[in-house]
Amino acid sequence: MVEVHKVSGAAYDGNAYLIMAERPAIIDAGMSAQPTIKNLIRHIDPQKVERLILTHCHHDHTAAVPELQQATGAQILLSKEEVGMVGDDLATVAYMFGMSAPDYHVDVPLEEGMALDLGDITLQVLHTPGHSPGSICLYEPEDKLLFSGDTVFPDGNIGRTDLFGGSTAQLVKSIERLTGMDVKTMYPGHMEVTSRGVPAQILESLRFARRFL
Ligand SMILES: [Zn+2]
Repeated sequence: MVEVHKVSGAAYDGNAYLIMAERPAIIDAGMSAQPTIKNLIRHIDPQKVERLILTHCHHDHTAAVPELQQATGAQILLSKEEVGMVGDDLATVAYMFGMSAPDYHVDVPLEEGMALDLGDITLQVLHTPGHSPGSICLYEPEDKLLFSGDTVFPDGNIGRTDLFGGSTAQLVKSIERLTGMDVKTMYPGHMEVTSRGVPAQILESLRFARRFL
């Protein structure tokens, strides 16, 4: 069983997770690097983190990318649909936070079907647009973990689709896909980690999303 720790520490930040695989990775950066780095150091030498994988480019998930990149030396991975959105205040919704979007270089553009080798485990990349054009979920098939970004949240909640490039029709299709998956634990981009009947929670998200079609 792979160890996963939530390492984001600031209120309103998107959740950042550390995966303690042979080749450690962080999923999402949040907005405030310092609390996250403090939490990170409790578990690992930051320099050992090989990848910083972003579920999408929104500011509350990526504002801390440059500082985290500096602290870890990790490669940055982001959906190929969103590489061109980096640094754009509107597309990253940085304007909603009264901030400007930081610039950073994406080392590996991600796309549907890619498998990320973390040594002892593999993360499958699922392109799940709707909340944003290049939103992804990451699935770990051994322990059946789903890093769901802002596509689905616990208790039937869903990502909003009224932001730049969002689409309710696409979100419904993306969630339909997730309902067919065997998920034991969901690591959402906001709210708490859950292992309580996750497929039923995702089904509830699907019903909720369909009401907006
Ligand atoms: Zn978002």
